[in-house]
Amino acid sequence: MSNETFILAIDQGTTSSRAVIYDDSLVPITSAQQEFAQIYPHSGWVEHDPEVIWATVVAVCRDAIEQANVAPASIAAIGITNQRETTVVWDRATGKPIYNAIVWQDRRTADRCDALREGGSESAVAAKTGLRFDPYFSGTKIAWILDEVPGARARAERGELAFGTIDAFLIDRLTGHRVHATDATNASRTLLYDIHAGAWDAELAELLQVPQNLLPDVRDCDASFGNVDASLFGVNAPIHGVAGDQQAALFGQACFDPGMIKSTYGTGCFVIANTGSSALASKNQLLTTIASRIDGEVTYGLEGSIFVAGSAIQWLRDGLAIIESAADTEALAVESGVVDDVIVVPAFTGLGAPYWDPQARGAIFGLTRDTDRRTLATATLQSVAYQTCDLMRAMADDGITPKTLRVDGGMVANNWYCQFLADMIQIPVQRPSNVESTVLGAAALAGLGAGVFESRRALQSRWELDRVFDVAMSPKQSESRYRRWQEAVRRVR
Ligand code: ADP
Repeated sequence: MSNETFILAIDQGTTSSRAVIYDDSLVPITSAQQEFAQIYPHSGWVEHDPEVIWATVVAVCRDAIEQANVAPASIAAIGITNQRETTVVWDRATGKPIYNAIVWQDRRTADRCDALREGGSESAVAAKTGLRFDPYFSGTKIAWILDEVPGARARAERGELAFGTIDAFLIDRLTGHRVHATDATNASRTLLYDIHAGAWDAELAELLQVPQNLLPDVRDCDASFGNVDASLFGVNAPIHGVAGDQQAALFGQACFDPGMIKSTYGTGCFVIANTGSSALASKNQLLTTIASRIDGEVTYGLEGSIFVAGSAIQWLRDGLAIIESAADTEALAVESGVVDDVIVVPAFTGLGAPYWDPQARGAIFGLTRDTDRRTLATATLQSVAYQTCDLMRAMADDGITPKTLRVDGGMVANNWYCQFLADMIQIPVQRPSNVESTVLGAAALAGLGAGVFESRRALQSRWELDRVFDVAMSPKQSESRYRRWQEAVRRVR
């Protein structure tokens, strides 16, 4: 194998860290994964220990490299994709974080966001950032750390501290503290970055009370982010591809042309449409974001997020204990067939796009004496498709009318779900043979950056279809089911 070229891709996710070694045709060779602890100090707060994140990343990289049994010198490039928005502030001198990472799901800055909204600047900020005042994004999390950790704000003013999303934190560590940089997709999730000007914005920094000297250098997704310190796992390759997880998935799905769209079904569900060189402002509370920046060329995306997708299936397993494993839902749904009387609204932590209703809570409507676990499992699968339908309709109203939807993530192993999804959105659903689009996207970016592939087109031909789910339900039937869902949502708000 000595003359071959390999790529190492790191996927630092919300619940686990993964490393995958790909060959130069983007075929995965080996992978390693480690879960880590979620820290819940108070209701609505979610933290990770950055040192634990770092330790798991080093461990999975070592493991994947060891299993692959390749010469360290044959690894040509490293890609990083990461849980987005999660915020770390560290001491520039020692590299030590001054507080735990505040995770994207954390709601502690809701009051700050309300105050900002009352200040009246939300539409101006949305025009620059494509985002809204929500605790989800990094900006208010940084200010919280500076205000709540004793002495932090003064130290920040003196230039002693650095901020980064997880990608930047890992780049700092991997390069032996030589590089403080992030990529444009991660920058676009902070509320501090002007996505049109392509720069940190002084007014936004002032409004959110984040000194600009904390902020990392923003680079193209396929730029060089420095070489990895060889003492870590024997590899001295350049980090040459960086993107937030959902943008990496869009890339991994080879959605390179405007109008192409993907939906990732993991814990939550994230739909992103490629809108090309134009940043589309949504009339329907979707977010405008940077989908990629490659060789200085920005591709924008329109994004909708659903907070609860696969986690509703986990609730069937761990909360209700009516299934043993997530995969059981498929057989139950096949037995049951589409459920019309019972509707599950899994608004466990409020509703995301297009409702953005943090107060809404879940409900089950239409229970009768013959409701059983088959009904509940099927209705829960259906709820994820209905929510995707909400997003697709919002996108359509914003002018995005794709011909197909590319899906990925753990939940799309479920054929029944994919078929019901196609029926509800009334366009074919395409499932690729590699549904690990996120980490694949990071590897593809790194390969592109390091010159392992010449162009995006070369990657396009590597995208391989596993199965298409064609629409089998009449538009009338689909519409009447969607109406019932909308009525149920109205009742939980
Ligand atoms: P994440 O990266 O967010 O941890 P994954 O992409 O690994 O998520 O997907 C795992 C999720 O998919 C879990 O929430 C699980 O409940 C769900 N899931 C996995 N397999 C199936 C299946 N066959 N049917 C329905 N849901 C599934």
